[in-house]
Amino acid sequence: MQNCPTKALSRAEDGSIHRDNTVCTLCMQCVKVCYAKAMHVYGEDVTVDELYGRIRNQPLAWRSDGGVTVSGGEPLMQADFVAALLARFRTYSLHTAIETTLYAPWEQVAKVVEHCSLVYADMKFFSADKHMRYTGVDNRQIKENLLRLKRQFPEVELIVRTPVIPGINDSPEELQAIADFLATVPGLDDYELLPFHAFGAPKYEQLGLTYEVANLKAQDKEELARINNGLRERMGLTVKTNEK
Ligand code: SF4
Repeated sequence: MQNCPTKALSRAEDGSIHRDNTVCTLCMQCVKVCYAKAMHVYGEDVTVDELYGRIRNQPLAWRSDGGVTVSGGEPLMQADFVAALLARFRTYSLHTAIETTLYAPWEQVAKVVEHCSLVYADMKFFSADKHMRYTGVDNRQIKENLLRLKRQFPEVELIVRTPVIPGINDSPEELQAIADFLATVPGLDDYELLPFHAFGAPKYEQLGLTYEVANLKAQDKEELARINNGLRERMGLTVKTNEK
């Protein structure tokens, strides 16, 4: 509390210390002096050269079934960096992938996808209203990018995934609307339903945010695989028999 230059930290009646995010400037002074190591910095600034050097020393990346996947957050938020990094690996014919929402202007998408072997793209809702309500952004750009991706990059593998949130986007109507739209996406290679998990809960807690889906229960995996295959069939994709 003494080290905070903006007085963002204060002690509550029960003795616990609270941070006022409206005045915190993320200067990280408190992280340096916290004896209990209660605060952490996630992430760091690196150059493309530094990160390339670190990954280059990972033997798994260089196995015949290995490769490099850039995930997030959102890789397209740092499109220049990700494009430069993946381009380095492509010069060695290494498999390269991104996990993305595709929520970005096409120029940013194209810049990165040009250096990808595989794109995993999220499709959380077909309904624009629901997408806006639950993610805070419109999904028109996502749909446009999906329709455009394989037209411009036919050699890139495209797998669309829906992270299933029980009671939010798992109704038959919503999933069928997603499937009907994806049936129109040129060159779609596969579609996957991702079971719900609450791995984000600790991060929300550390940021002082409410994790509103903490009490939702993950779906039965076999049931999800059955639904997934039904949707694949609706899209004209190959049905998988050994999916768990
Ligand atoms: S990061 Fe810590 S020290 Fe810096 S303003 Fe925020 S609470 Fe204060």
